[in-house]
Amino acid sequence: MKKSACRECHRVIDGDACPIHGKGTLTEDWRGYAVILDPGESEIAKKMKIDTPGKYALKVR
Ligand SMILES: [Zn+2]
Repeated sequence: MKKSACRECHRVIDGDACPIHGKGTLTEDWRGYAVILDPGESEIAKKMKIDTPGKYALKVR
């Protein structure tokens, strides 16, 4: 089963809803992901405006 990603925060979701944005924002149409361990030290996290550690899709449609 393909995982979903949230269109709003780009988080890759294991369940069926984004913990922040709920079910309505999930999509299976996403590519690539980055694991952000320390958002304060990560250029990708800054670019994507991520402030919580986790797994994030790079491209979400
Ligand atoms: Zn979200």
